[in-house]
Amino acid sequence: METVVYAARLKDHELLKKSSSGGAFRSLSDVFLERGDAVVCAVYDYDSHSAGFKMILTKEERDEAIGSKYMQSIPGTIYKDSLKWLKDNPEKKMLFVGMGCQAAGFRKFIDMSGLSERVTVCDIICHGSPSPKIWRDYAGIIEKKHGKIEYLTFKDKRRGWNKPLSLVVAGGKEVSIQSYKLLFTSNCIMRPACHRCPYARIERSTDITIGDYWHIEKKLPDFYDPMGNSLVLIHSEKGKSLFDAAKSKMEIMESNKEDCWQKNLEKPTPCSSQRTDFWKDYEKNGISSVVKNYGSRTLMQKIKHKIKKFLR
Ligand SMILES: Cc1cc2nc3c(=O)[nH]c(=O)nc-3n(C[C@H](O)[C@H](O)[C@H](O)COP(=O)(O)OP(=O)(O)OC[C@H]3O[C@@H](n4cnc5c(N)ncnc54)[C@H](O)[C@@H]3O)c2cc1C
Repeated sequence: METVVYAARLKDHELLKKSSSGGAFRSLSDVFLERGDAVVCAVYDYDSHSAGFKMILTKEERDEAIGSKYMQSIPGTIYKDSLKWLKDNPEKKMLFVGMGCQAAGFRKFIDMSGLSERVTVCDIICHGSPSPKIWRDYAGIIEKKHGKIEYLTFKDKRRGWNKPLSLVVAGGKEVSIQSYKLLFTSNCIMRPACHRCPYARIERSTDITIGDYWHIEKKLPDFYDPMGNSLVLIHSEKGKSLFDAAKSKMEIMESNKEDCWQKNLEKPTPCSSQRTDFWKDYEKNGISSVVKNYGSRTLMQKIKHKIKKFLR
């Protein structure tokens, strides 16, 4: 079917605040969990400082998956585990949620196993997945200086969804991780394949796609909420029936492919011209050096940022 576009966000404002965008993931996953079905998605592990795929059967476990993790997540044994669970529970269904490449891989695997009727695949719009090693090293520096990281968020909404803060709680106090966020947005630390991503488009082979509805304040000003707005792209009948079942918990508004445009729905993020220098610096001098050299705004970027802020 032709892709259908919606703006959506959770009606519950407290839950909306905790989600990265408009909380579409929470309401889609609720549909599966409330029926006793499974959700497969990425969860952050505070011991290994990595994000890995996990099979989730309760809302408590699901709450641990809330929040964007700006690092490539690891599939581990999730393919094998999912297949076993589907075979052991022939009457149950599964929702897979992951980045475009992960969703495409999972869909292919499930198609080959002949169980795809029972699996709904949801992918997330993606700027690119950063190297997990760079994040682990960065987390290591924080823990050395401040103590154990007990909480991590790349999208704290206290200043609103448009101006998220990135921080950790380490040794009992909040520590900014803005310099890591700048490494991410420098486009130096993503996997090389991300710069050739074939999934950076509106039409996809998944059932449903979720992301941020960027520029919504201009395109749908009456609908916009400063606490977060999801973009939902529905690609199949399965995606449509999931969205229909989930929408009672959300405010929704139909939109279109033009209004919801953002860069990563048209093409992959380009590689930085500084990427090679970045990795040479990292290999020679380590994480502290690249944080110092690439984890802050240049004078020109600071001026541009101030102008943007003023215009907003
Ligand atoms: C690396 C990265 C880049 C992104 N780039 C864009 C972008 O360019 N444009 C855009 O519109 N949106 C982007 N997003 C998506 C956006 O930030 C939200 O994650 C998405 O809209 C879901 O928000 P939510 O409020 O529905 O979910 P939440 O309730 O916050 O739940 C987050 C969901 O994302 C999953 N997730 C988080 N981190 C990862 C990860 N590393 N790997 C796999 N799954 C993960 C969780 O398992 C969960 O399913 C990106 C997300 C990530 C992690």
